[in-house]
Amino acid sequence: MAGLMRHSLLVTVLAALLLPLLSGCGEVAITGRRQVMLVSDDMVHAMAFEQYDAFLEEHPVSTDPAKVEPVRRVGYRLVEAVEHYSRQQGRPELLEGFQWQFNVIEDDQINAWVMPGGKVVVYTGILPVTRDDEGLAVVLGHEIAHAVARHGSERMSQGLLFELGGMALSRAVQERPEATQQLFMQSYGLGAQIGVLLPYSRLHEREADRLGMIFMAMAGYDPSAAVDFWQRMAAAQEGPRPPELLSTHPADDTRIAYIKEVLPEAMQYYTPRRND
Ligand SMILES: [Zn+2]
Repeated sequence: MAGLMRHSLLVTVLAALLLPLLSGCGEVAITGRRQVMLVSDDMVHAMAFEQYDAFLEEHPVSTDPAKVEPVRRVGYRLVEAVEHYSRQQGRPELLEGFQWQFNVIEDDQINAWVMPGGKVVVYTGILPVTRDDEGLAVVLGHEIAHAVARHGSERMSQGLLFELGGMALSRAVQERPEATQQLFMQSYGLGAQIGVLLPYSRLHEREADRLGMIFMAMAGYDPSAAVDFWQRMAAAQEGPRPPELLSTHPADDTRIAYIKEVLPEAMQYYTPRRND
């Protein structure tokens, strides 16, 4: 991370985040959950896009079509379904300012992540677990859901409220610059160990699982593949070295039970599409 972002730039950006705030509240698509939202998409996206490009420059981006093409095919098919849904619901703001990108990194870790505004990374290590398009749709649907539901921005907002005692971001930047910077980095996974995020709360994980399955169903992928995928992840967990994704995405019985619980809801959105 060192060198990617200078402290003064961060302070400027954080200060700019503040202005529109404090009355902020949002609502998550489909689940309808109200969320505290104290940071604006515009600034968060600008920062995330810059960080994503920097990440790609410093990591081995795969050019192997056998790995990259399926990820992009499935990713953009999911995006198309979510875009269709947001238009249909009259909620274009859900995807406003998003610039979707799907890249594959040559790395054994069993992991994938998303930055605000739709910047996705998938590591080659997870491909044997995803196995096919349905498996990829589980992972990508989940990551797309985190982005669409603004979970990173919600974490940032909660951090401002609870860790910085409800301090307004403008004051926090002035008076607690280091704590504020750390909070921002953690919330968006922009720290030195990018991709090793603070674990999302169980609430966010559940919401991403549920929305991700609905998105995959909308895109014509059978959401019951999520049960199979997470069982394969659980099996991978029994190996000698627990895969990275499992530290932030535990593949435990509770998760699999929840996925089975929300499967009937996701199935309501499912129309199988012909293979093309
Ligand atoms: Zn997640």
